[in-house]
Amino acid sequence: MSEHSFATRAIHAGQEPDPRTGAIIPPIYQASTHVQDGIGGFREGYEYNRAGNPTRSSLETQIAALEGGTAALSFASGLAAEDALLRGILKPGDHVLLGNDVYGGTYRLLTRVFASWGVETTTVELGDPDAVRAAIRPETKIVWLETPSNPLLKIVDIAQIVELAHAGGAIVVVDNTFASPALQQPLALGADLVVHSTTKYLGGHSDVLGGSVVFRDDRFFEAVKFQQFAVGAVSAPLDAWLTTRGIKTLAVRMRQHTENAQAIAEWAEARPEFERVYYPGLASHPGHEIAARQMSGFGGMLSFGLAAGPAAARAFAESTSIFQLAESLGGVESLIGYPPEMTHASVRGTELAVPENVVRLSVGIEDIGDLLADLEQGLGRISA
Ligand code: PLP
Repeated sequence: MSEHSFATRAIHAGQEPDPRTGAIIPPIYQASTHVQDGIGGFREGYEYNRAGNPTRSSLETQIAALEGGTAALSFASGLAAEDALLRGILKPGDHVLLGNDVYGGTYRLLTRVFASWGVETTTVELGDPDAVRAAIRPETKIVWLETPSNPLLKIVDIAQIVELAHAGGAIVVVDNTFASPALQQPLALGADLVVHSTTKYLGGHSDVLGGSVVFRDDRFFEAVKFQQFAVGAVSAPLDAWLTTRGIKTLAVRMRQHTENAQAIAEWAEARPEFERVYYPGLASHPGHEIAARQMSGFGGMLSFGLAAGPAAARAFAESTSIFQLAESLGGVESLIGYPPEMTHASVRGTELAVPENVVRLSVGIEDIGDLLADLEQGLGRISA
């Protein structure tokens, strides 16, 4: 399968037709346990759903093939995946270095759950190599980055961080949720592990929660797999199947998300109501050149800062109708959000706080004319 191109792998990896009936779609193995041929005689290794399930295996094969990894594990949520990864790799006394605008839930997990387990977390501006070098300590195990970041769409040079982290004896984890493997493949740039909230672009239809860890090689697989088995935050068979179905259209969806987001970013850049547009596809974006080098498209997420300030930003987020006011991102439908009080409420007042005039869009794949008209009428409503 690895010899095929991305769009082909997305549809076929891990998706062999059912050998018994020829059903083109592998069945949903909605079963908690598997019959044994004598004690310990597991058919194809399956024993009990927490340890392994064929529908979950299909999804794991599919995701590993898309990221170019040797294996993947699938979890009940993105944060469950992050938790298993961190527990599998860290021990008390270790240090984690986070990019200074990673997803607030990752920051919360590390500073409010892992801190009491004796893991220390600090944040750093990953665009500043000297600061990164200075922040890596002998006990730093992981440098964790997100690019593009949420919600300010900052771009981090993955290969550069890999070089700095490895020189300091740390591994690099990339949260690839925003780009998806259709647009960016961190393992090929030297990252050690990739995590996803598959709830977002991989699932793609806002109908399922999930997460994944993807492995570059076999160094950490058994340790994280053990956490998955021991704790049990696995994806349920139907959820795994829905995610697999979503992934089959990932390549075509990401093209349309990107095309629509680029059009909206260019429209917004020309409007005086926005003092700043955060989208890596704009030549004015400080990370544009790095993004153009390490991504094959700039993605469907963008934010802007309202010139009239926080109250206008809040009002604008409540003024659209196709763009629905909701948390989350990455579905076919467009969403709008006010990060300071929604996705990033948990980091308000911390070093990860988002400017109060920022509105975030998850640009869907609806007709671009309709999306622009919706944003125009939203601006009209707040200036009226
Ligand atoms: N990583 C990123 C970039 C996210 O945006 C999110 C959720 O919004 C997560 C991880 C956590 O994923 P989940 O909500 O599936 O637990």
